[in-house]
Amino acid sequence: MNEEFLQEISIFFTWYKSIYGNEISIEGGVDLKANSPSTLLEKNEIQAEKPAQSPQMPTSVVFNESLVHQEHPELKLYYQEINKCINCALHGHRTNFVFGMGNPQADIMFIGEAPGRDEDMQGLPFVGKAGQLLDKMLFALKMKREDVYIANVLKCRPPNNRDPLADEVVQCEPYLKKQIEIIKPKVIIALGRISAQVLLKKGDSLSLLRQSEQTYEGIPFIVTYHPAALLRNPGWKPRSWQDLQKISQYL
Ligand code: URA
Repeated sequence: MNEEFLQEISIFFTWYKSIYGNEISIEGGVDLKANSPSTLLEKNEIQAEKPAQSPQMPTSVVFNESLVHQEHPELKLYYQEINKCINCALHGHRTNFVFGMGNPQADIMFIGEAPGRDEDMQGLPFVGKAGQLLDKMLFALKMKREDVYIANVLKCRPPNNRDPLADEVVQCEPYLKKQIEIIKPKVIIALGRISAQVLLKKGDSLSLLRQSEQTYEGIPFIVTYHPAALLRNPGWKPRSWQDLQKISQYL
């Protein structure tokens, strides 16, 4: 076995164990010499048993204004200033303005693209299926969503979850920038291509952005897969775990 292969196995099992505990089922038997973990994952040949401990599921989070600002004076004032925004057409479709949620003193800030249906209904970011995976990822990093701050580039849901339009980004991005200014995270994690491209003002592909060092206004900036993309492509999870390992360098 070559060293790279062993390293890949080790990264994979560290990630797997932290999410699923010690139970593993390998259906039909697997020749580990002939198959790398990422290939097995891509082929769905490795499947999870029940999680050993389940992280707190975000679907149980019920909107409460203090979840978005935790009574932090500046963040609260800013929320009250912008939450009735009508600067772009998206306000006409929204159920709720999704400001963000978490710890205003957080060292780590996660930034997604835009609210989806569940987020629009609940007024909180990442509370649907992608949010459940994000919670598992946080759990694997020994964190909870209360330890970090989570926000999106857009605060209102685009119809049918389409990509944000340029004018929507122009209107909404200043809100995110101000949140970053208030929270002053030590590290930012961009979830997916859109938030990375918007904040870095780069049109590069996700894979290029992931693999190069980035900063946003002097803040270390890690680019990784969007949890929704990981749900569609579970084989990318070891790579996302590798990306998230970089967080500790900055804290
Ligand atoms: N996807 C996002 O980018 N943000 C959310 O809040 C939910 C899903």
